[in-house]
Amino acid sequence: MTEGTERPDRREPGAEDEAPEKGRSERPAMTPVEGATEGDGPGILSGPLGMVFNLRMLRRVVQLLFFLGINAYVMASWYGGDAIVGFWRQFGQVLPTLPIIAPLEAPAAVLAGSFDTMQREFTSGVFPFFTLGAMIIILVVLGRTACGWVCPIGTVQDFATLPNRSKIRPAPGTEKEFRRIKAYLFIMVMFFVLWVGVSKVTGTEERLVEMLGPFADAAFAPWNPAYIIFVESTRHVWPTGIDNLWVLLQWPTVFWLQVVFIAVIVVGSFWFPRWFCRWLCPAGWFYGLFSKDALIGIGRNPARCTPDTCNLCEVVCPMNIQIRSFPYERVHSPDCIMCLECKSHCPTKAIQIRFI
Ligand code: SF4
Ligand code: SF4
Repeated sequence: MTEGTERPDRREPGAEDEAPEKGRSERPAMTPVEGATEGDGPGILSGPLGMVFNLRMLRRVVQLLFFLGINAYVMASWYGGDAIVGFWRQFGQVLPTLPIIAPLEAPAAVLAGSFDTMQREFTSGVFPFFTLGAMIIILVVLGRTACGWVCPIGTVQDFATLPNRSKIRPAPGTEKEFRRIKAYLFIMVMFFVLWVGVSKVTGTEERLVEMLGPFADAAFAPWNPAYIIFVESTRHVWPTGIDNLWVLLQWPTVFWLQVVFIAVIVVGSFWFPRWFCRWLCPAGWFYGLFSKDALIGIGRNPARCTPDTCNLCEVVCPMNIQIRSFPYERVHSPDCIMCLECKSHCPTKAIQIRFI
């Protein structure tokens, strides 16, 4: 996974790995032009309204609405309303799958992730023409905006990161190595998925399905955090008070491991923003193949950007992208999720949304 190679700044060759890290650990020594600080960047409105309706707040609201909306049962279980489930399910009939991770098996789920659906179709012996087609169109036009604004697991990580302002950012070389993991995981998932699919078509799947167990229908599902939260967790009894804590003893070991995995994702995100997206999500890696040169993206205004003295965009980027290493015109990174944190925090308003 290579990122852009041209650096617009004037660092000495070989200093690339150390210099950004030094800058990354502390705020840039510059005077913010518009008085922006980390946490309250320029909004989409000015004045008091801008304090409330800024880009960051808008994204949080959209993320929360999708988190609840994608799994209508969350609301239904709060209000006990079949009507609410019915209302949301109407959308499920007409919406395509989205490039996020969201299992359609979740009770009352109204949206499914493209990668989740693709796996199920392959393992049923069906080629996912429509799912792949819709996914590619969305990614080529909007990039990975759905990762930044819609995916429930991205939302969980973003909210877990919020209280902590001193994040840990690995050196670029280490980050690059970690990012390879999700590519390997994608290859592994597709290997099993295609193997099951071909055996279904040839009618030889019986022993293979038995051997793969929970990995047979969708190899990503047992360790897909969205599947664990929205599907697996609904299959087990949860304690409702101290007097029935004993139900935890009934949980199978596999579910305990899955719960621990979710806890690691949440707790780890406190220090490592979006670490699951950056290093482990095979779906995100696949989506990145089509989003790199999307019609919509992030660019920098060279007349405003001061890359030699400022690295705030990189400090706040949850995907730890070396934004300044890309040409001013576009950040052609497969990891950009269009969260616009860089734009919100840029003190000189140099970051712009670009359309090609
Ligand atoms: S990369 Fe993150 S936001 Fe994108 S699908 Fe994976 S978990 Fe969701
Ligand atoms: S480059 Fe900007 S828009 Fe893209 S992921 Fe980083 S902060 Fe978000």
